[in-house]
Amino acid sequence: MPFLLQRYFSQQHWVATLQEQAGVKPVRLLAVSKTRPAEDVAVLYKAGQRDFGENYLQDALEKQRALAHLDIVWHFIGPIQSNKTRDIARYFSWVHSVDRLKIVKRLSEQRPITMPPLNICLQVNVDEEETKAGLRLEELSDIVRPILALENIKLRGLMAIPKADKTVVEQRKSFKKVRNALAEINQRFDLTLDTLSMGMSGDLASAIAEGSTMVRVGTAIFGVRVAKSKV
Ligand SMILES: *Cc1c(COP(=O)(O)O)cnc(C)c1O
Repeated sequence: MPFLLQRYFSQQHWVATLQEQAGVKPVRLLAVSKTRPAEDVAVLYKAGQRDFGENYLQDALEKQRALAHLDIVWHFIGPIQSNKTRDIARYFSWVHSVDRLKIVKRLSEQRPITMPPLNICLQVNVDEEETKAGLRLEELSDIVRPILALENIKLRGLMAIPKADKTVVEQRKSFKKVRNALAEINQRFDLTLDTLSMGMSGDLASAIAEGSTMVRVGTAIFGVRVAKSKV
C-alpha cells in the first residue's frame, strides 16, 4: 500500500479512536492538501475521502480543474484578500478563514445564486497573537448578526489555530474557549451553529477532547511540506 494511504488510514483510525474516547459527535476529517499535487488528492479520493482543504487560491484552482470529474467538497482555509473572493465564492463549498465583515459580504454578493449558500466559519485568534489572523473572542457577537442577514452565506461555526508549541493542558484551554464562544453565540442569537473547526496534525487530540467537529490535517497525512508552491 502506498505510504500516503497508510498515513491516511492511520489518521482516520486515530480520529475515530479519539472521538470514541471523548464520546463526542462524529468528527469530520478535512485533508489539507495545500502544496500537494492533484494526484495525491485523487489517491485519497479513491480511498473515500471527500473533504479537502486548500490555502493558496491559484494552487487550488489548478487542482480543481484537474479533478473536476470528482465530487470533492473543497474548503478554503487560507488568508483571504479582497481580490480573491470572487473565485473563492464560486469554487468552494466552505470557507473557514473569515475574519472581516467586508470579506463575507463580498463572498455573499459573489456567490452564484444557482449554488447553495456558502458555508463559513469565523476564524478566532484565540490566543491573541499579534501575527495571526482572526477575530478576538469579544469581537464575535458584533459580526454575527450582520452575517445572519446575508443571503448566500450559511454561518456554520468557528475556526481556530491556537499558538504552536503549547502543552496539552494549554491547548485544551484554548480549544475550550472556542467551544464556549460557540455555545454563547448559539444561546445569544438563538442559533444551532454546529461546527468547531479545530485541531491540526499537532493538536488534534486536544481539539477532539474539547468537542471539535472538524479537524484539518495536513502533515500527518501528506508528510512534511517542503515549501508552498504558488501563492
Ligand atoms: C496548513 C494548515 C493546516 C494543516 O496543518 P498541519 O499541521 O500540516 O496538519 C490546518 N489548518 C490551516 C488553517 C492550515 O493553514
